[in-house]
Order: sequence, then C-alpha cells, then structure tokens
Amino acid sequence: MKTIKLYDEMPYSTDFKATVIEVNKNEIILDQTLFFPEEGGQECDLGTINDIPVKDVQIKNDVIIHYVKKHHFNVGDTIEGHIDWKRRYSFMQNHTGEHLLSGIVHSMYGYDNVSFHLNSEEGQVEYDGDIKDIGLIEEKVNQAIYENKEIHCFYPDDLESVSYRSKKEIEGKVRIVEIEDYDICACCAPHVKRTGELGVFKIIKVIHTTRGTRFIFLFGERAYHRFKDDFDHLESLYHLFSSNNQTLVKQVNKMYEEKTALEVKYAQLEKEHMLSLCENAYLFVEDCLPVNQREVTNHLVNVYSTGGVFVGNDEKGYRYVIGSTSNALDILTQLKSLKSKGGGSKDMIQGFTPASKTELLKALS
Ligand SMILES: [Zn+2]
Repeated sequence: MKTIKLYDEMPYSTDFKATVIEVNKNEIILDQTLFFPEEGGQECDLGTINDIPVKDVQIKNDVIIHYVKKHHFNVGDTIEGHIDWKRRYSFMQNHTGEHLLSGIVHSMYGYDNVSFHLNSEEGQVEYDGDIKDIGLIEEKVNQAIYENKEIHCFYPDDLESVSYRSKKEIEGKVRIVEIEDYDICACCAPHVKRTGELGVFKIIKVIHTTRGTRFIFLFGERAYHRFKDDFDHLESLYHLFSSNNQTLVKQVNKMYEEKTALEVKYAQLEKEHMLSLCENAYLFVEDCLPVNQREVTNHLVNVYSTGGVFVGNDEKGYRYVIGSTSNALDILTQLKSLKSKGGGSKDMIQGFTPASKTELLKALS
C-alpha cells in the first residue's frame, strides 16, 4: 500500500499520528508520514517515532520506510511522529532556492540542471553549459527573494497542458512546483510558500566541469551562518592588521611585499655569514636555507674541487649537499657505508645522513 505523503499538503507541520502497517526488523512502515525520504537528490528528514530516533528514511515503489534502531512497534499500533524542523526548514529553503536558481539560469542561458544534491551543509547543482556571470546570477536570485513571490505545489489534472522546465517522461502522478514568474518544475519535495522565506542567497564555489558548471550554494539560515563566520574571521583580521574592509587587502599586500624583501635580505646575510665560516671543504651548520646550502656548496667546489654543506647536528643527523669536479657519486658510496641516504649525479649529490660530524669528516678526508 502506498504511503500517504503528509508533507505534500502540510510541509510546515512537524507532528503527526499514524498507524503501523508493517514491521520488518528495523524497518517501520506507516499508513501516512511527514518524514520526507531521501529522494530527488535531497537527504531525508530526521526525527522521532514515539521518541525513538529515526535514522534514515527511504522510498521504494511509493512505500516510505522509516529505519530505527531498537523498538517495540507492532502492526496496528498508533504512533506519534515528530520531525526535526530545523533540518527540514533548511532543506525547504535550499531546495526551493535551487528551483529559483535553476529557473533563472534556464531563462538566462537555456541550460538545464543535470545533477542536484542537497545535504545538511550545502546544495550542489550542475548545469549543462559554461556560466561566467556569477555576480549577475546572485543578484537576480536575491532580487527574486525580495519580490517575495508565491510558490504553489500541485498535481495538475492535465499534465500535457503544463509547460515545465526539464520536462521528461515521469511515471505516475507528477507534482508541479511553480514559483510565480520564475519557474515551473516537477518535484516531489516539500517547499516554502514564498520566495521571501529563502532569506539570502550566495554561491560559495564555482567548479567548471566536463559537462558544464557546478555551483555550491547556500540559502537562508545556512547563508547567514556562513556570512557570520566569514565576518567574524574578517573582524579578527581587521584587528590583527589594524585595518578595515577598505584597507585590509592593501595592508596584507604591503606586508607580503615587505616579507618578500626581508626574505631576500635574510638569504643574502645568511649566505655571507656561511661563507665567512668556511675554513675547509666541508661546512657544518645547524640550519640554513636550502638555496644557501647549494650556493655555498658551489663556492666550496670552486675553491676545493670537492666540498659540501651539512645542515643539522649529531643528534638529529644532517641533510647534505656535496659537489665535485671529479665524481661526487664516489662520495655517495662512502656516505652510504655510514647508513646515509641520498642520490644525485657525478656533479652533485644530496641526501640525509645519521652519522656524526667526526665520523663524516673521517670518511671524507
Ligand atoms: Zn526539486
């Protein structure tokens, strides 16, 4: 027996009574339900049946199955169901929002929605064409929200006479969702009554795919929370950089340029310092920039024909770079006998050695 979908007529109701008509282990089937199952790209409602948490809701051949863990339900029981309204309303806002977005994209470009997924965090929708005017789409969708247009869900008597977006053969009775002046589409999910309830809209990511363009988007409370989070982060940054929304980017760019200039200066000073420490073919230092390890090695090779820089200490081991005008690979063989790792060419080798400074100097002398 088909389950009566109470959410069709009463999308704003949260509590209902129903009769258990079938029980299979952890699967409960009721004569009617407010629980929207996972369907059409949207995750299911959650909530309780007689205070027992409903973990999942699926639909098979128009029969809605509620999955619970431990229970004592028997066929014929009258139950009280309750759905998690915060989750449901967020789904309603974002699903209706997706229709509005897709209606606007369709009217602007003629593109169809080729995939849709809505979970408790974000919505994802993909269109079969390349879209670049993201700002304009956001503006139009938000404008349609301010216009507070009516939304109707209905089962038309004569489906043939209804022209709707992405029309295709669908079995059984087709439910139509119409957003006044913006969209007509077939859909089975609960929707809000007016576009004003969508609150605010933001595309948070654009992905260009082989099929076209995918948006990750937020409507309503989700969008507000995202704005609030981002605003809080920005406030911390304004404070940190003693700036405001007009000056932050300029300030960060300036600091980045200063940092780059200091890094260049530091590298130069470190190199000069390392060169001043060179007394023979091998230099041992606690730490240095990789670029200086190479450059000082080149200097040592120029002076001694073979030479290199060891960075580290006896406790942690050393990362080494060694160059030679004859064959550095011979030195690699010697180092490997000290359990060192590494590789390279006959001009230059590099790697890591756990050997001590004394052992290394002995092996390399
Ligand atoms: Zn839909």
